[in-house]
Amino acid sequence: MANDTIDIKTSEIDNVFKELGIQAVNSGVCGEKWHKKPNGKNLISYNPSTGKPLAEIICADDADYEKVVVQAQAAFIKWRKLPAPQRGEIIRQLGEEYRNHKYSLGKLHSLEVGKIFSEGLGEVQEAIDICDFAVGLSRQLYGLTMHSERPEHRMYEQWHPMGVVGVITAFNFPSAVWAWNATIAAVCGNTMVWKPSEKAPLTAIAMQKIAHKVLEKHDMQGIMGLVISPDRALGEKMAADTRMPLISATGSVAMGRSVGQVVANRFGRSLLELGGNNAVIVMDDADVNLAMRAIAFGAVGTAGQRCTTTRRVFVHEAIENQLVDKLLAAYKSVSIGNPLQDGVLMGPLIDADAVKSYQKAITQAQKEGGKLIAGGKPLNMGKGYFVEPTIILANKPLPIMQTEVFAPILYICPIQKLEDAISFQNDVPQGLSSAIFTGGLGNAEQFLSVVGSDCGIANVNIGTSGAEIGGAFGGEKETGGGRESGSDSWKVYMRRQTCTINYGKKLPLAQGVEFI
Ligand code: NAD
Repeated sequence: MANDTIDIKTSEIDNVFKELGIQAVNSGVCGEKWHKKPNGKNLISYNPSTGKPLAEIICADDADYEKVVVQAQAAFIKWRKLPAPQRGEIIRQLGEEYRNHKYSLGKLHSLEVGKIFSEGLGEVQEAIDICDFAVGLSRQLYGLTMHSERPEHRMYEQWHPMGVVGVITAFNFPSAVWAWNATIAAVCGNTMVWKPSEKAPLTAIAMQKIAHKVLEKHDMQGIMGLVISPDRALGEKMAADTRMPLISATGSVAMGRSVGQVVANRFGRSLLELGGNNAVIVMDDADVNLAMRAIAFGAVGTAGQRCTTTRRVFVHEAIENQLVDKLLAAYKSVSIGNPLQDGVLMGPLIDADAVKSYQKAITQAQKEGGKLIAGGKPLNMGKGYFVEPTIILANKPLPIMQTEVFAPILYICPIQKLEDAISFQNDVPQGLSSAIFTGGLGNAEQFLSVVGSDCGIANVNIGTSGAEIGGAFGGEKETGGGRESGSDSWKVYMRRQTCTINYGKKLPLAQGVEFI
């Protein structure tokens, strides 16, 4: 562990900014073209490792927002008519451009949200991977055919784009979540307007600049719009905007509760990807080393700021001490500091409020009977927002464990039976990711069965975080029920139409009904 003031060379930042076209002051509004002088408030993006400003953004006001939405509507008229494989070809080129800029984009993630460089690169790779996935998908937007009960009739279903999709994103995956939405929505024939997190505006600008350049080559500007807001205001506006048939929103449960209700009230569709409270179960027949490594990555990786972060462990009492000892040793070896430095495994929390929430949760857990066995304190590293990764032992689940606190705090509780572990795991309001470590087929299958995990993601012998793009990603209960990225998640970005064609000369009615 380090305890130094973080110093990131200005030249290192300048190089990243130069390659990605980021200036000291940037426009945060793009529709058909970048708005040179938006009229909104100024927003400063800070580096959470140093507390220093990185650059300034001029945000969108209501009139800027209006222009971008109107342009996205106009772009939809053109874009929807382009055959899907041709839309896919443009997304292929977008993926190539992200590949070309992967290094600098990865660094920007470290600078703006404090991810270690390897995770920054990983996030950009996720954006590239979903471009590739979307290209293939552009030739596979399949509908079913059904057998009609009526003679000389044919019945099938087809999928059409929805229109302008509103995309609201969180700070902790500032590029991948947008890419998950934007690439799939685009090959499906939609256009979109993106309102990124006010805590990660520069990454949004960089991703958008690259996308805009690719779209310009095809005279398809306006497909992907961007409106940066210094707060939630434009997100709220989007949720209520009847011109957006689908709102895809990623963030806290509180945000989703508000967006979900507003969108439902106007009969829009929402795709909600909200908070998680993920658990790992470790049975007495588990490979403890494997479990330890997965838990350490799940709990400490991204400084505990993933929706899939491991927050709770239910370990069989026979191996509790063994697992805890291994985790304590692993936690001691975690080097904390400048996320761009080789060997550093944990960067900062996003801001001062996150540090306060971390401290408050630890105090509360101790009041409730939890025993602090590792970490527990903020680290004095200049003006950055660093904390110690923390482990709290509890004999049984504590009330605080019902809440997602976006920080590296891990609770460990002993269990005697798998049934109890599953019941503890499921007994929280959230339902995103879950995992079991076991060498037994019976345990694994029970965990995956109908009486097992109630989460959207259930893993065996791998941890809760680090999902691949090929599967549908999302969770149940207060996690919002949305699914995005792989599998058939594309269907949420399209409207289904059932078509019945009568190629005969008679008009038989369904169910044998007789009429004129
Ligand atoms: P947040 O809810 O504070 O903000 C997310 C986005 O929503 C921001 O762009 C914000 O401006 C906007 N917003 C906030 N309130 C809004 C409202 N009432 N109406 C419209 N827009 C609103 O979340 P955050 O702190 O940026 O991100 C952390 C949270 O996101 C955690 O809870 C994490 O679990 C969750 N998350 C979930 C997933 C997932 O896929 N399930 C992925 C990443 C993050």
